[in-house]
Amino acid sequence: MTIAPTVSALVSARSGDLFQLLLDGAPRTRAELAVLTGLARSTIAARVDALMASGFVSAVGEGASSGGRPPSRFAFNPTARVVLGVDLGASHSVIAVTDLAGSVLASLRAEIAIDEGPEPVLDLVIDRARHLLSSLGEGTTQLCGVGVGLPGPVEHTTGRPANPPIMPGWHDFDVPGYVRHAFDVPVLVDNDVNIMALGEQRTHWPNYDNLLFIKAATGIGAGIISNGQLQRGAMGSAGDLGHIRVARGSHVICRCGNIGCLEALAGGPAIAATLTAGGAEMRTGDLIALVERGNPDAVAAIRQAGRDLGEVLATCVSLLNPSVIVLGGSLAAAGDHLLAGVREVVYNRSLPLATAHLTIARSRSADDAGILGASMLVVQHVLSADAIETALALQA
Ligand SMILES: [Zn+2]
Repeated sequence: MTIAPTVSALVSARSGDLFQLLLDGAPRTRAELAVLTGLARSTIAARVDALMASGFVSAVGEGASSGGRPPSRFAFNPTARVVLGVDLGASHSVIAVTDLAGSVLASLRAEIAIDEGPEPVLDLVIDRARHLLSSLGEGTTQLCGVGVGLPGPVEHTTGRPANPPIMPGWHDFDVPGYVRHAFDVPVLVDNDVNIMALGEQRTHWPNYDNLLFIKAATGIGAGIISNGQLQRGAMGSAGDLGHIRVARGSHVICRCGNIGCLEALAGGPAIAATLTAGGAEMRTGDLIALVERGNPDAVAAIRQAGRDLGEVLATCVSLLNPSVIVLGGSLAAAGDHLLAGVREVVYNRSLPLATAHLTIARSRSADDAGILGASMLVVQHVLSADAIETALALQA
């Protein structure tokens, strides 16, 4: 996984800025760093020493000698700290420990009931996370941050859920504050679709700076990465596509009270309901199983859901001009039928310039996108120039 720096070659004198140059993982000598930054060799030497002492940078062999002793080379050390990534769903959670490059060192799944409220759910997560960390032999001193994805809207600046529909008791709860009582490190919280977008992009599409990640499950939402940055909007609700009206839905009333919402037509329960009119209740998992067995009604229903989703995505393509749209979530597990419906409408309805280089694909990270994104949220924060400066000041 790449953590590409966004700084230009010339940086200020701080160690944190110098460190951004090393985040690409390439080993460099002090002389090479001096050329890249325009800083004096003696300044570079002092900064490198401070970064080495923190563990964030380590020696990795020697550069080419120009006669005499070959110079040492240094690189970003992704094993310097560990990160806790937590992905909470309605009824399940995934908890993982990763290194600073997003490699999963250990993970576990645990059943939860998000509607029991924040304290019982977070207590369970904290307890399991402690076991996971101790199973690795890593004390919490090595832990540098916790990232949490929640299945509902989150005010990103505070990490507090904002009227999450399926999370009674969570509204405005101080999730970071509660978790920090257990782990005294930065705690970053975001909604699950945003972190899935981040995890998918950093892991599988690092060269695609404009990516739209769609989670199609019970609800439908998008994580938007534009110019390499997650876009949350003014209040964190950017990408909430589920309640956009689609043409076919003039007769359908959504749970939100409006008519013709995308989610009321193309969400998992909505599709399942069309197949079970008068019959037994069907869950999204049953629907996927029917599609996998080639049931023609189920295949047709998923394909139509893809077209409905495509109608909304055609508008998104005009607005955002992404280079890749990634379909994830439980409905994406229905294979190529959803994808085919989406492609049919998006390529038909968008202007050629917007689709000339547009890829529409299924998620490659599948179940791991959430924990990888939660981990990357923390990594971006703790490895920023300012955070590194603070860490070095504390160790000095
Ligand atoms: Zn609605």
